[in-house]
Amino acid sequence: MIQWYQGKVQGILQESPSVRRFFVEIQETSHFNFKAGQFVTFDLPIGEKRMQRWRSYSIANAPDGGNVIELCIVHVENGAASTYFFETVQVGTFLKFKGPDGAFCLPDKLNTHVVMICTGTGIAPFRSMILMLAKTHPSTNIHLIFGCRMESDILYRAELDKLAQNCSWFTYDICLSREDLKGTRKGYVHQVYLEKYFGDTENKRFYICGWSKMVDEAVENLILKLGCDRSQVLYELYG
Ligand SMILES: Cc1cc2nc3c(=O)[nH]c(=O)nc-3n(C[C@H](O)[C@H](O)[C@H](O)COP(=O)(O)OP(=O)(O)OC[C@H]3O[C@@H](n4cnc5c(N)ncnc54)[C@H](O)[C@@H]3O)c2cc1C
Repeated sequence: MIQWYQGKVQGILQESPSVRRFFVEIQETSHFNFKAGQFVTFDLPIGEKRMQRWRSYSIANAPDGGNVIELCIVHVENGAASTYFFETVQVGTFLKFKGPDGAFCLPDKLNTHVVMICTGTGIAPFRSMILMLAKTHPSTNIHLIFGCRMESDILYRAELDKLAQNCSWFTYDICLSREDLKGTRKGYVHQVYLEKYFGDTENKRFYICGWSKMVDEAVENLILKLGCDRSQVLYELYG
């Protein structure tokens, strides 16, 4: 039997021109247990059939024993669910969802260096993981490679800067495909890990999150060009 929850939207923040953060308070419990990297699936009033109505979203905040989850959602042109989130959902809206689900998580005992590769809202599960690690200060390194189109699309930028300043185990690169900006790389995420980890993949795990074009290319590059074993490469596909 699926356990469904009612979430009440508690707050909405415009994070970039096309991305909003939604804070959802779960009504049935004061402790919503999930692992960093997991997602929830909403049953939205946008169609008749299950396939039309159900959409999954990664939980973007770290587990904190509370009952509020954060979602980071991009508005896709003509996208049924994201348009519903952007045009209909308001503070106070109730949303039906199930979860948490998914195995795109860090191991309980982190003993390899982790490279996180993402574009756009693919940052969501990594933000959850990084904020969780910030409480425990791992002894391994975390390197985030984050691809966006332009400066205005960079999500959680101030927070990432602060984490990199305060946490010696955390570094990040931002790649902008459509803009030159000091302190960022011009181009796609692929050039960064291909350059940095060529001949240096031992004791490393690569986590990838986002849309299929980027994820497929990264998986192929890591295995064929960098010689990673399949077990070193984990990914979450958004579509
Ligand atoms: C496990 C999981 C976790 C997810 N987590 C998130 C998340 O945290 N944040 C988030 O924004 N989305 C996330 N998604 C994607 C989300 O479930 C929806 O697919 C997304 O919101 C688009 O749904 P839609 O109904 O608006 O568009 P649809 O009407 O379903 O699709 C419209 C078309 O656009 C394509 N498309 C949709 N979005 C993009 C995009 N950004 N780039 C390129 N093509 C696209 C689709 O493949 C489709 O062809 C996740 C998906 C999965 C499976």
